[in-house]
Amino acid sequence: MINFLDLKAINNQYQQELKEACARVIDSGWYIMGNELTQFETEFAAYCGTKHAVGVANGLDALILTLRAWKELGKLNSGDEVIVQANTYIASVLAITENDLVPVLVEPNLGSYNLDPETVIAAITPKTKAILPVHLYGQLSPMPEIMAIAKEHNLLVLEDCAQSHGAEINGKRAGNWGDAAGFSFYPGKNLGALGDAGAITTNNDELAQTLKAIRNYGSHKKYENLYQGVNSRLDEIQAAMLRVKLHYLDGETARRQHIAQTYRANIFNPLIMLPQVNEELAHVWHLFVVRCAQREVLQQFLSSRGIQTLIHYPIPPHQQQAYSHYADLQLPLTELIHQQVLSIPLDPTMKDENIAKVIAALNEFVA
Ligand SMILES: *Cc1c(COP(=O)(O)O)cnc(C)c1O
Repeated sequence: MINFLDLKAINNQYQQELKEACARVIDSGWYIMGNELTQFETEFAAYCGTKHAVGVANGLDALILTLRAWKELGKLNSGDEVIVQANTYIASVLAITENDLVPVLVEPNLGSYNLDPETVIAAITPKTKAILPVHLYGQLSPMPEIMAIAKEHNLLVLEDCAQSHGAEINGKRAGNWGDAAGFSFYPGKNLGALGDAGAITTNNDELAQTLKAIRNYGSHKKYENLYQGVNSRLDEIQAAMLRVKLHYLDGETARRQHIAQTYRANIFNPLIMLPQVNEELAHVWHLFVVRCAQREVLQQFLSSRGIQTLIHYPIPPHQQQAYSHYADLQLPLTELIHQQVLSIPLDPTMKDENIAKVIAALNEFVA
């Protein structure tokens, strides 16, 4: 059996260090908002190249609380429009609607699955106040173009970096392009905790300070509350796990890039469409997503060869029950993507012989 992702094998590589870090937190007697979090925030900001990183409970909160902070700071108001690609994971859209903002779902670029600058321009109205580019599957959106559009139209940019830790264009990393960025450290992400965790990166001091208050009951000072905040803190134990794993992130990314490169160089099957890559370093391969008109048949065929695959994602946000008022939206590219995508195994601990087996199976597939 070739697993889609073997989390146990990934974390086993660092077992000794993870256990030592765990023991360090247990022995410290301090479990929330302490030294591990402060250190991780400093180290993760340095990794992204930003001035600040603010730890929160998960990736969804990272997005929700950033939009919320911009509302508190008077930069956004209820009813403002936020442009986002329609094929994203639902969390990006939830962050918008949770803040009483209006998601404007636009068709993605069919090759990269990311925002298309032309489509973004066409979607701008007087009510547009922000763009939320999702660096889906690990590939950085065309950020130079998106930032130029944002500048021209005076829009905020919130990057959804949940799948793109370390991706870069011109030496500038995911999380350092927009006004702010939300990261997830869900266990299966490229930088994964051993539980839930997330962070916001930004170069803006005021935003970072506001977020630090909002994540902790809206309190900027003990027992004094500036905002009606929430409890969304990144635990010491998870910060300690992340500090260990951050150390190995670039090594794991290099391995992911090598596997993806091997797939791209060796899968030749006219029935299978490979992902388009604009720049090698811009893609950190959270997922290797192919498209196939007979997706279900392909998935069954691979399963019969012992190869586990997943679908990211089977139903687009506008067709979810939760957003039934968007059911009439016509988004043919997005719908096509959801009918055809299939994610094949891509695990940094994957053995070369298993990479070869996946390639052979994909090349042997016939309709
Ligand atoms: C995983 C993910 C999130 C949410 O992260 P959680 O930590 O699970 O809350 C948001 N956006 C995208 C694109 C994701 O893949």
